[in-house]
Amino acid sequence: MRHVLEASSLVPSGFVVEGVSNDFGGPVLSVRAASKTSRCPGCGGASARIHSRYQRRLTDLPIANKPVRIVVLARRFHCDAVLCGRRIFAERFDEKVLAPWARRTTRLDQIVLCLGLALGGRPAASFARRLLLPVSNDTLLRVVRRRGSARFVPPTVIGIDDWAWRRNQRYGTIICDLERRKTIALLPDREPATAEAWLSRQQQISSVARDRGGGYALAAAKALPDATQVADRWHLMENASRAFLDAVRKSMRQIRSAIGAATINPELLTAAERLQYDGYLRREEENAAILRLSEEHVPIKEIVRRTGHSRGLVRKILRGQRSDIFRVRESSLELYLPWLDTQWMAGQRNGSELWRRLKSQGFRGCLRVVSEWAGRRRRAEKVDAEALARAPSARTIARLMTIGRDHLSKSETVTIAAIERGAPLLVEAHEIVAAFQAIIRKKSLADLDPWLERARRSLVASFANGVIKDRAAVAAAITSQWSNGQTEGQITKLKLVKRQMYGRGKIDLLQARVIGFQLA
Ligand SMILES: [Zn+2]
Repeated sequence: MRHVLEASSLVPSGFVVEGVSNDFGGPVLSVRAASKTSRCPGCGGASARIHSRYQRRLTDLPIANKPVRIVVLARRFHCDAVLCGRRIFAERFDEKVLAPWARRTTRLDQIVLCLGLALGGRPAASFARRLLLPVSNDTLLRVVRRRGSARFVPPTVIGIDDWAWRRNQRYGTIICDLERRKTIALLPDREPATAEAWLSRQQQISSVARDRGGGYALAAAKALPDATQVADRWHLMENASRAFLDAVRKSMRQIRSAIGAATINPELLTAAERLQYDGYLRREEENAAILRLSEEHVPIKEIVRRTGHSRGLVRKILRGQRSDIFRVRESSLELYLPWLDTQWMAGQRNGSELWRRLKSQGFRGCLRVVSEWAGRRRRAEKVDAEALARAPSARTIARLMTIGRDHLSKSETVTIAAIERGAPLLVEAHEIVAAFQAIIRKKSLADLDPWLERARRSLVASFANGVIKDRAAVAAAITSQWSNGQTEGQITKLKLVKRQMYGRGKIDLLQARVIGFQLA
């Protein structure tokens, strides 16, 4: 057991301490190699014939809160091997300890590398300063670049996808080993040719999970013709939902008329109109009751007796003359209503002007009657317009139709019910999309072909045709255990790293950090 701390135990192995001094607040250790010989880098032969000596100044790990410098008394050797081109070579050390030309010991470099990989350039540099590791931002990045590029185990199942360098501007490609759950490569663009070049060097790959955007499918087919392609399940589900949304968009005309015809929103009416509207609903009930009696061949006299309405009113109802929502005053105006309506539709909407023209036709009522009529007409149109404007967006309708009835509010239920009555093809499209998603979820490949048959003749036919074109990969998506889902997760990680790099994210750096992460 040693009781004395020897200076040599502080320096990297293979070195002997010659002397210790203090300078600018930190220790300076003078060392030399323990070995008497060194191997020539040209021929590999050992030589002990010293030519000259020189000094190498290194930085090492700090000790006791002080930076440590090491001065290596290095030697130059003659190489005496007859066939070696070198006559003189500089002393080489174990690379695990000190690399040729290095200004830092390998153990310091390792820590610098780990910091750079974990934190990126600038944050790592400032953290390194606190740890008394004297490295600049640039040095850090250089170390990461030089040493971070990782080797990977040749993959057999990969996921490939694109990711945004800058949103909507520049894209790269990420490749993950799905079995080992690791990112193994970043490619600088998303060109099929780039992906193809990478893939063709990895002939052992047997499965490629990719999205449905054609480019990677093509690259994989060319580079790895025997590999199974797996369409990404997440994208398939997403595409199916989008197809339904498109179907809703195509049906918006029917939807609007279904909603507009089915509802007058009482909240949009004025108080007076609401009274009228309530009265209208009540009248509708009375009308229905009277019509029912009539259908049962109850005589008019008996109907009058049972309902308490006048004989004239009962007659009117039976003739279908009482069904307007906003009661028209049974007035002098009635005779002129067809003419007024024509004028109104032609754009003549000024009450006084209408009244003047009516008068010239022999109308004897006062101006108020006509202007009240015009006011009612205007409000009714406004209500219609608002009912149309209230038709929810296609996206909302798609969502409401997709979530269960139990989760809808009462008014949403009414709206959806009206839409479903008015647009039966849309109901079918919804069933078809749900069936597709069930096939993916339940992995029921046998249902795929019957589904395609049905879907091709529906509102989501173009989605179905897309599936037919990519049928093998979709079938693989249903049966295969592999999916690009985890690639999405790796992209999230990648984006995080990219943000930490403050725009210095050149591809090699990013690659070193994302992939080097897993080595460190
Ligand atoms: Zn040699």
